[in-house]
Amino acid sequence: MRLFLALEPPAELRDALGRLGDIAQARCGGRRMPTASLHLTLAFLGEVDETQVPALRAWVAERPIAAATWQLDTWGTFQRPAIVWVGGQAPDARLIALHQAVWDGLAAFGFNDRPARFVPHVTLLRRAQRLATSELPAVDLTWPYQQLSLVHSSLDHQGARYTTLARSPIA
Ligand code: ATP
Ligand code: MG
Repeated sequence: MRLFLALEPPAELRDALGRLGDIAQARCGGRRMPTASLHLTLAFLGEVDETQVPALRAWVAERPIAAATWQLDTWGTFQRPAIVWVGGQAPDARLIALHQAVWDGLAAFGFNDRPARFVPHVTLLRRAQRLATSELPAVDLTWPYQQLSLVHSSLDHQGARYTTLARSPIA
C-alpha cells in the first residue's frame, strides 16, 4: 500500500490554506487539493508491503516528535509537475531536523530513499495552467505542530484519498 509520513494542519490553519487554494486556483487554474487533504509531506514511502505496516504504525504511535511552529510566508512552484504551493522562504531548521530524524528512523525499516533536498511545502494546486504567483496575496500563516502522521494514499477515480493510520503521541 502507498504510504507517506506527514504533518496534518490544525483545523483553523487547514481552512486558511484551503482559502489560499481557492485564490490560487482562480489565477493559476489546475486542480485544487481538497481542504481535508492538505498536508506537509515529510517522507514519501511509496508502495509498502502490508507485512511492514504494523511495525510502521507502532513506530509512529510510540515516538513523540519535537513540537514546534513553522512560519509560512511565501508562494512557490514546482515547474515539472506544475504544482503551486505555500511554504517558507528560508529553510526551516526544525523541519529539516525533523525530516532527518524521520529518515534516520525509517532506515531501520529498510527505507533508504532519503531525498538529497527537502523543501517543506504544502501543495495547493496540481497541474496548474499558469505558474504565476507574483500577484497572489501575501502568505502569513503559523503552523504549530506536535504530531507526525502515517498516511495511506489510495487512488480512486477522483485522485488520491488519504487515510491516517497512526499518529505520534503528544509529548
Ligand atoms: P495524485 O498522485 O493522485 O495526484 P497525490 O500526489 O496527492 O495525488 P500521492 O501521489 O499518493 O498522492 O502522494 C502523497 C504525498 O506524497 C503527496 O504529498 C505527494 O506530493 C508526495 N509524493 C508523491 N510522490 C512522491 C515522490 N516520488 N517523492 C516525494 N514525494 C512524493
Ligand atoms: Mg502524486
